[in-house]
Amino acid sequence: MDQTNYDYIIAGAGAAGLSLLCYLLAEENLAQKNILLIDQDLKQTNDRTWCFWQAQEGPFEACVKSQWDKLMFHSPDFSAQVDIGPYKYKMLTSIAFYEHCFQLIEQHPNVVFKQDQIVSIHPDGSVVGAKNNYKAAYVFNSAFRNPAQSTHTHLLLQHFRGYFIETDQPSFDVEKPVLMDFRVEQENDCRFVYVLPTSPCQALVEYTGFSPDTLEPAQYDQALDKYIQTYLGLNEYRITHVESGVIPMTNAAFPVGEGAIVHIGTAGGATKASTGYTFSFIQKQCQAIATKLALGQLPVSANRFKLDRFAVYDRIFLRVLTERKRPSWLVFNDLFKHLPAGLILRFLAEETNVFEEFRLTNVMDKPTFISAALREAMA
Ligand SMILES: Cc1cc2nc3c(=O)[nH]c(=O)nc-3n(C[C@H](O)[C@H](O)[C@H](O)COP(=O)(O)OP(=O)(O)OC[C@H]3O[C@@H](n4cnc5c(N)ncnc54)[C@H](O)[C@@H]3O)c2cc1C
Repeated sequence: MDQTNYDYIIAGAGAAGLSLLCYLLAEENLAQKNILLIDQDLKQTNDRTWCFWQAQEGPFEACVKSQWDKLMFHSPDFSAQVDIGPYKYKMLTSIAFYEHCFQLIEQHPNVVFKQDQIVSIHPDGSVVGAKNNYKAAYVFNSAFRNPAQSTHTHLLLQHFRGYFIETDQPSFDVEKPVLMDFRVEQENDCRFVYVLPTSPCQALVEYTGFSPDTLEPAQYDQALDKYIQTYLGLNEYRITHVESGVIPMTNAAFPVGEGAIVHIGTAGGATKASTGYTFSFIQKQCQAIATKLALGQLPVSANRFKLDRFAVYDRIFLRVLTERKRPSWLVFNDLFKHLPAGLILRFLAEETNVFEEFRLTNVMDKPTFISAALREAMA
């Protein structure tokens, strides 16, 4: 047993655990707390790339690799370069983020990192690890995910594989990143590619699907090769890094916590059900927790409030994507063809008001969405 009685244990040093740590250390009256960070991994590899949009500079600005204020949208019916003001679309590599956070840890002797595999976490604040047992007043968990499934739950997987590619000759327009390109074969599914050029000779090209099942690795590779040849016009390029992943898109309720346990990150319901975007919601969630603790309040209610109207929109949208009565590319096409992209992003960031939401719902295909909404209401 580790004899230290920690103020906080952060179980999981990923996006949420490390973000929370940074927000805690930024609060004057929390910066000296005894904090234990536990992860089974040393977090020394570039295991993911986070993209998100932000209107202002954020606390991890120094880790941002590239950012853009315009994005391309392509579908079989429509192509446009859209202005996303007031937002910037930012790309951050996880390795830069991990290094930034671990440098901060080095400056704070009251923060300890331990590499251990967590076996279980308990409401009395105890954490059982493979190497040791630990105890704290609060345990912030992002290591274990336990969503409550019910018969009214939709679950789609956002699955993707991306190549970081490099060319000898300038091949990419850094002013024209592609958010979604639906010109790829849809296979009665929802599939698109995004292209994020970080220099004229380097880009991340990622093939993404929203569906109940993932594909075989070779299927992603074939689709990527075809896209790079057909739409980027490249026959010769080097793949410098491959990234793949699966993000659950679900309206399942994630528990807020129990006793001393507070769930954060994906485990705390921070993944937006209809898009899979999580990074920005983690920032809001962790900032809210740190603010509450600094004010001497309980941190538990900082979880994303799941019964709000955005949760209802998510459920309807997930049903539309799952049932595929209207091709998914047309659903996104309706939005990008008729509305300012900044408004769409504000809606997806859950920052719109009801009048703006009326404007959004008005451009969507009414028979599809009204019937999905009615069936959701009756579910
Ligand atoms: C490849 C990939 C790309 C993504 N890209 C984006 C994006 O562009 N934009 C976006 O908004 N979202 C993105 N996401 C979704 C989401 O932002 C990430 O999954 C994010 O990392 C979630 O943060 P988290 O802290 O909840 O989980 P993680 O970052 O996965 O952190 C959990 C931590 O817990 C540790 N852990 C797990 N089990 C144990 C255990 N038993 N003992 C000890 N430690 C344990 C893990 O090692 C890990 O460090 C992406 C996800 C993936 C997988």
